[in-house]
Amino acid sequence: MAAAARKSEHLIDRLPKTRGRLEADAPLGAQTWFGTGGHAEILFKPDDRDDLADFLKALPGDIPVKIIGLGSNVLIRDGGMEGIVIRLGRAFANVVSIGLEVHAGAAALDANVARVAQQAGIAGMEFLIGVPGSIGGAIVMNAGAYGSEVKDIFVSAEAVDLKGNVHVVDSNTLAFGYRHSEAPMDWIFTSAVLRGSPGNPDIIEARISDIRAKRDEAQPLKVRTGGSTFKNPPGQKAWELIDRAGCRGLKRGGAMVSVKHCNFLINIGNATAGDIEDLGEEVRHRVKEATGIELQWEIQRLGRKLP
Ligand SMILES: Cc1cc2nc3c(=O)[nH]c(=O)nc-3n(C[C@H](O)[C@H](O)[C@H](O)COP(=O)(O)OP(=O)(O)OC[C@H]3O[C@@H](n4cnc5c(N)ncnc54)[C@H](O)[C@@H]3O)c2cc1C
Repeated sequence: MAAAARKSEHLIDRLPKTRGRLEADAPLGAQTWFGTGGHAEILFKPDDRDDLADFLKALPGDIPVKIIGLGSNVLIRDGGMEGIVIRLGRAFANVVSIGLEVHAGAAALDANVARVAQQAGIAGMEFLIGVPGSIGGAIVMNAGAYGSEVKDIFVSAEAVDLKGNVHVVDSNTLAFGYRHSEAPMDWIFTSAVLRGSPGNPDIIEARISDIRAKRDEAQPLKVRTGGSTFKNPPGQKAWELIDRAGCRGLKRGGAMVSVKHCNFLINIGNATAGDIEDLGEEVRHRVKEATGIELQWEIQRLGRKLP
């Protein structure tokens, strides 16, 4: 048995009882959108919110904990993630409409929320059709597209902290900014209430189709990517700066700057997470040299680099 797997088995013995699933040395990076990266020392899939809260309440405080959504905005480094990585499963994926509100579990697909809203004649959630993550990830990142963002539709969310306490928060508490919220780093969102405005389902459907068509035109499709790699600096477009610095199509190992949309890094076959991160750093360096602007990563890089 590999050393990493032995260490994981040892950690499992220290963990509280759960109705959910615990998996030692679980593949993680391969399940993200980049399709590469290391393992989780322990992967925990709680059975429901109370199971999650009880587990965290009883968990020894020295064990690191991190939640991952659908992995569309993260790069798991090749050395993997220490401690517990939480992923919410089907019990957290419900989506229902009530009046002008959509109540969604944190593991619900953003696209499902857009669909349920469209069918119920709730306008304002169309932008979620093209964001390939979960509602939990969308809250934390204040996901947005085509002039709308989570902030515009957010009413409240429920979260569990690392001590197992349950919180209900509103928009003021989360202080949403551009692809950012002030959500405490250690909170795990379990559900959210979103509100739109009255709309005609046919008109909403037409907007959804329009967003889809625009995306197909502008972004690389059916490729392994984490979406926009860098935040747009104030008043600038990251892709334009990257293009100006001559990075379109730049390669490092199995990683490449997309030719179609150069703020996307893509895994063109067998990239390691190291290839992707190194390519991103090379792009930042070249953009700084060419334009004087320092790009900030939007993609979250998690875990350890290999020595
Ligand atoms: C092809 C492509 C296109 C994209 N287009 C867009 C776009 O148009 N607009 C946009 O905003 N983003 C876009 N993204 C980025 C990404 O989809 C969003 O940031 C999304 O909201 C991330 O959700 P996720 O569930 O995949 O989260 P992950 O990538 O798994 O995690 C992202 C962060 O959220 C945290 N997180 C996840 N779930 C929870 C939870 N339940 N509680 C607390 N924290 C949590 C994680 O810890 C991590 O810090 C795109 C990505 C891809 C691959």
